[in-house]
Amino acid sequence: MAGTSELNEDKKARKSKRGRGDAPVVEAPGQPDQDERDDRSAQEASVSEDNYEFFKVIQGYLDEAAGIIGLPAHVREMLSQPKNEIIVHFPVRMDDGSLKIFKGYRIQHNNLMGPYKGGLRFHHSVSLDDLKALATMMTWKCALMGIPFGGAKGGVKVDTNKLSRDELMRVTRRFTHALGNNIGPNYDIPAPDVGSNAQMMVWIMDTYMNQVDHTNKNAQRAVVTGKTLNCGGSPGREKATAQGAIHCLTEWAKDNRFELEGKTAIVQGFGNVGSFSSLLLSKLGVSTIAVGDHTGYMRSVEGFNAHKLSDYVKKNGSIAGYEGGQPITREEFFATKADIFIPAALENQLRAPEAELLQVKLVVEGANGPCSPEGEALLAKKGIAVLPDVLANSGGVTVSYYEWVQNLRSETWDLEEVDRRLEKTMKETYRKVAFFASEKKVSMRVAAYCLALRNLGNAYEERGIFP
Ligand code: GLU
Repeated sequence: MAGTSELNEDKKARKSKRGRGDAPVVEAPGQPDQDERDDRSAQEASVSEDNYEFFKVIQGYLDEAAGIIGLPAHVREMLSQPKNEIIVHFPVRMDDGSLKIFKGYRIQHNNLMGPYKGGLRFHHSVSLDDLKALATMMTWKCALMGIPFGGAKGGVKVDTNKLSRDELMRVTRRFTHALGNNIGPNYDIPAPDVGSNAQMMVWIMDTYMNQVDHTNKNAQRAVVTGKTLNCGGSPGREKATAQGAIHCLTEWAKDNRFELEGKTAIVQGFGNVGSFSSLLLSKLGVSTIAVGDHTGYMRSVEGFNAHKLSDYVKKNGSIAGYEGGQPITREEFFATKADIFIPAALENQLRAPEAELLQVKLVVEGANGPCSPEGEALLAKKGIAVLPDVLANSGGVTVSYYEWVQNLRSETWDLEEVDRRLEKTMKETYRKVAFFASEKKVSMRVAAYCLALRNLGNAYEERGIFP
C-alpha cells in the first residue's frame, strides 16, 4: 500500500539523517509494548475510570466526516494512522545524585501541509494512545485554519510536581537531545501543552541550537514556538488559545442573540487556557462562578476575581488553598447552574454522567477532546451547544504560526498586529464551520472535521502518491 511505503521511507530518511541524540525507538503503529500497557493502566486510574480509547474516538469522527464529504478511501486510510511514532528512553541525573530513566514520545501524524506541528505534554498520564489522538487533531486544526503545518504531539511521562526546577530543566534538555534531528524549524516544531511552558520551550530551543551545526544559528529559534518574549516568542502567544476560544464564543453569541454581559461560566482546569479564558471572560462581563483543577473544585457565588486567582495559581501551582472560594465536589461543580462551561483540562472529562449533571447553554472546548461521544450525544439531547476543540482551541497553534514566521523573517510584530490577525482568522473560520454545519445539518465538530479533511483531500488529490 502506498501509504505504508511512504511511512517506511520517511522513517528511514529520518533515521539515516540522524547525527546526534540518543537512538529513538520507532515502533510500528498498533503495537503497544509492556510499558505502554502500564502507561494505560496508570492513566485510566488517574484520568478517567473507564477504558477510554481516545485515538479510536478521533478515528470515529474521521470516518463520519470522510463519509459526508466523500473523501477518497486511500486518503482516509493515509490519515488514519500517524506517519511516525517516536519513543525514546533517556537518563536524567536527579538532585540527589541518582539516575532516572524517563520515557518520551513524539508522534508525527501528517506533514502534507507543512512541517509537523504540535505541543509537548509533560504529565504522568501521557500515553501513546492519547498522543496519537492529539497529534491527529493537530493535523485537523492546522488544515482547518489554513496554516501551513501538519500535525504532531509529544511529551514525557512525568509528574512535574515532583521535580525541582533544575530536574525539570535537565529532563527537558535531555529529551530534546534524545529527539535529535526528529525536530527542526522546517521539519517538526514543538510548542507548549499541558504541563509545559514558555521557559521549557526556551530550554528546548537552546539545547537544539547547541546541537546543530549551522552558521545562522539564530534562525534555528523557530524550532519551537511558545517561547518567552526575550527569546523569540510572540506577543499574544500566551493568551492565544483562550483568545481564540473567546472569539468563537462572541461569534456564537452574535448568531444566537446571546447577550454575554452579566452571564456566568464554570471553568475546569486553571492552567494557561483556563486562567486566560476566565480573565478574557471577565472583560466581557462574564463572571466565573466555579473552577476546578487536579487538586479539587471550588465555587464563588459572587464570582471569582480572575486576576487574583490567576496570580495565586501562578505562585502556588494550583487552586488549592485559595481563600476566595468555597470547596465543592466534582459533581457539584458539573451541576452548577451557569451559562457557559469551558473545559480546559484533559480529555474525556465530560462523559455521560457529567453531561447528565451539566446545566449550561454552551460548552466551549478549550481542552482537546474533553467530551466523550456519549457525553456529547447527551449534550445534544439536552440542547446544549458545543464549540468543538478543533475550532475553539486552534488560536494557540495559529499564533504559534505567527511566531514561527517572525523568527524566520527576524521580525517582531506588536500585540495589536497579532491580535488583529488572530481575530480575523478565528472569526472567518468560525463562519465557515457554522455555515457548513447548518447547511449539512451536522454538528460543529463534524463540520470542522469536514472542512479540514476537504483541504487535506484536495491537496492529496492534486499531488498524487509518489512514485
Ligand atoms: N498544544 C497546543 C494545542 O493543542 C498548541 C500547539 C502549537 O502551538 O503548536 O493546540
